[in-house]
Amino acid sequence: MQQLSDHATSAPQAPGPSFSRVKDVTLSVVVPLYNEELVIDAMYDRLTMALRDCVDSYEIVMVNDGSRDRTLQLALEICRRDKAVRLLNFSRNFGHQIAITAGMDRCRGRCIVVIDADLQDPPEVIAQMLEKWREGYHVVYGVRAQRKGETWFKRVTAKAFYRFLRRMTPVEIPVDTGDFRLIDRRVLSELYRMREQARFVRGMVSWVGFKQAEVQFVREERFAGETKYPLRKMLRFAIDGVLSFSQLPLKVASAFGFLSALVSFLFMVYGLVQRAFYPESVVPGWASIFSAILFIGGVQLICLGILGEYVGRIYEEVKRRPLYIVQDEVNFE
Ligand code: UDP
Ligand code: MG
Repeated sequence: MQQLSDHATSAPQAPGPSFSRVKDVTLSVVVPLYNEELVIDAMYDRLTMALRDCVDSYEIVMVNDGSRDRTLQLALEICRRDKAVRLLNFSRNFGHQIAITAGMDRCRGRCIVVIDADLQDPPEVIAQMLEKWREGYHVVYGVRAQRKGETWFKRVTAKAFYRFLRRMTPVEIPVDTGDFRLIDRRVLSELYRMREQARFVRGMVSWVGFKQAEVQFVREERFAGETKYPLRKMLRFAIDGVLSFSQLPLKVASAFGFLSALVSFLFMVYGLVQRAFYPESVVPGWASIFSAILFIGGVQLICLGILGEYVGRIYEEVKRRPLYIVQDEVNFE
């Protein structure tokens, strides 16, 4: 077994393998792992079985995203038995989208597939994706025709979110797709150039373009363990998705401003007319003033909040921190 180094490996090289290394591996499968001790072995077995059937050479790139359970030990054990499995071990939890990015940065396949560790995305679907890829498509994304074992709340909000996102952005982001998709090296090499911090990978892949096709599948129940996306994280992710692909919220903010300015202008005209023609009917009117102030104040705070979300993101981007830190690498030679 390869020893894990005590020290963090030096800063990552420019993303993407050298070209000579790309040729020997047909397919890379990227699997992000966060506290998946209950599923990792079953996932490895089923994935390997599926891959052996449909491709001559493959690699599995596991990314351990700062798990606190035995995921790392189990992953190391798998790497020791099977040299086709490579492992990147993060120095802490960096998040799902970043873990996917790291796997993409280091994989060598002529095409890659990103898949969840929990077997919700059936590995057998990869064969169909490869078929489409061989037909000449650059991106083949999995569409969730049906979701099993997820709460109605998640199903309804997810459905609504993808439709909302589609209306918000000029980028064609297909509805009901996750990160389970096949990506050709050509597209991948374009993705390497996008080093933004707030990463909504499924949107970025759509943004790049090229020939895209879909494969329908039934999203299974989680094999074991529980979701790593509690409501709070899911919301954050959704906001990331909208804000990194749309400036519509900003436009809505200024629309709010115009609207309230218009309303207050009409009120002013009304007040002046009343004063000029019916001076005896003028009442103190504190209630209307009061509500107008509250209304404008509220609108201003909302707009500031929206602005703040964007400014915060700009701040994150200009710091230009590395996206992730790899503590150990296994089976990368
Ligand atoms: N994941 C990760 N880092 C995180 C959260 C999740 O690498 O901070 C991985 C997780 O191990 C799984 C995948 O991302 O392989 C998707 O997570 P999960 O299945 O919990 O999300 P859900 O399917 O419930 O949306
Ligand atoms: Mg899942």
